Amino acid sequence: MSPARVKCPTCRRELDWQTAPFRPFCSERCRLIDLGAWLTEQRAIPDDAAPMQEDAAAADEKPLKGSPDA
Ligand SMILES: [Zn+2]
Repeated sequence: MSPARVKCPTCRRELDWQTAPFRPFCSERCRLIDLGAWLTEQRAIPDDAAPMQEDAAAADEKPLKGSPDA
């Protein structure tokens, strides 16, 4: 069961879980602030973990079949 009283993760203000429309946040403002912080944190992570993909198309040189003279 959920606790009747929860604290807003953004501003730590207590709110009633049963009636809070933006739970677990106390308001839409706090929800947007938390969401914005999360997105900023995600973008802050450097993307150097992704391996560089080699250009497979460049190495895909197929020999010509047949001859136009034949
Ligand atoms: Zn809040």
